[in-house]
Amino acid sequence: MAGEPQDDCLFCKIVAGQIPATIVRETDTTVAFRDINPQAPTHVLVIPKAHHKDAAALAAAAPEVAADLLREAQAVADQDQLESHRIVFNTGSGAGQTVWHAHAHVLGGRGLHWPPG
Ligand code: 5GP
Ligand code: ZN
Repeated sequence: MAGEPQDDCLFCKIVAGQIPATIVRETDTTVAFRDINPQAPTHVLVIPKAHHKDAAALAAAAPEVAADLLREAQAVADQDQLESHRIVFNTGSGAGQTVWHAHAHVLGGRGLHWPPG
């Protein structure tokens, strides 16, 4: 069921504390932790505690939590004192999504080219 923890989901396990992560922020609805394979000096994932398969599913089911995710992404950027940053939601395998639990990548601390590859 949407929102319920999924046994086979890596990020649900991080939310549950079953897999360790370097958590940088937490709210009632979200967790932010450093990506295990960082692509920039700051590379933090901001996720809802509830399981939704991608950002669009999250926005449809729980728009207030989708707003929390964006607010927390900015808080991560502020915490790491980023002058500029990029928020990325890879959606679908063709765009590089590999974990099917909604997450925002917050990237910064280096030059970020546009358009991205
Ligand atoms: P996606 O490719 O789905 O947009 O992003 C998934 C992200 O999760 C990748 O950037 C990947 O490096 C990160 N990731 C995968 N496994 C782990 C893990 O066990 N711990 C952490 N902190 N990040 C992970
Ligand atoms: Zn999950």
